[in-house]
Amino acid sequence: MHVHFLPPNIQKAVWNVFDTAGPKIGREWPIRYRQPHEERVELLRAMGVRRFSTLPYAHKPGVAAYLNDWSRAFAADVPEVIWSATFFPEEGVAAYVGELVEAGVELFKLHLQVGEFHLDDPLLDDVWGPLEDAGVPILVHAGSGPVGNDFTGPDSMQRLLERHPRLPIIVAHMGAPEVVRFLRLAEEHEHVRLDTTMVFTDFFGMPYPAWLVPRLVDLQPKILLGTDFPTIPYPYAHQLEGLARLDLGDDWLRAVCWENGAGLFGAERSVRP
Ligand SMILES: [Zn+2]
Repeated sequence: MHVHFLPPNIQKAVWNVFDTAGPKIGREWPIRYRQPHEERVELLRAMGVRRFSTLPYAHKPGVAAYLNDWSRAFAADVPEVIWSATFFPEEGVAAYVGELVEAGVELFKLHLQVGEFHLDDPLLDDVWGPLEDAGVPILVHAGSGPVGNDFTGPDSMQRLLERHPRLPIIVAHMGAPEVVRFLRLAEEHEHVRLDTTMVFTDFFGMPYPAWLVPRLVDLQPKILLGTDFPTIPYPYAHQLEGLARLDLGDDWLRAVCWENGAGLFGAERSVRP
């Protein structure tokens, strides 16, 4: 659910932020998988990952279209890719989102910490209604981890869901560190889901509250495996280990690691980017 493939120049800039442990990261972050794209695709295949996203995200106006074109071409080349795109509060956003939805895009990604905008930014007003009707999932990094700012946290998502309660939002990183309020948003809205990216690993540093874990049983159909591959400081398998040690049973693991994602995006891609 949560894998990144970015244009090489953008990928380099993102990794530079992690490598220098800059103020948006706040800690050492030794990236584990720096191989070229082709090798990383092969690695995912070898590990048995049958579908994966690319998740572009914009940090300023004017770059979403470039990211989306690159992402579309990448998806056209790699059949396992969940065709991903992004958008930004800017002039013309409703038009390019509409075109992508029409063409069959499978997933959008937004990053509130990096993009520094609220989900209910007025420039996005015309985007949400059509997305709600089309039912295209939107993966949002909204939680205040690793370092929060004025735009992170559950408030703007809560306000948006009051206006558009059927939006199929996927909350990245289970919304950490605001895991309680984001869990509640998933419990209260039929189409809000959570992705597990990094949350149950030893590295994460924000232990998931034990009293919350039983509620993950009821949410079984709405939790999706996420990894943040390749920008992770541990072996890919460690995330699976983290999920397994929650001890919620094999059915729960099958649902989270495969069935829920396959149900949402299909076991194979049916659109041509
Ligand atoms: Zn990510």
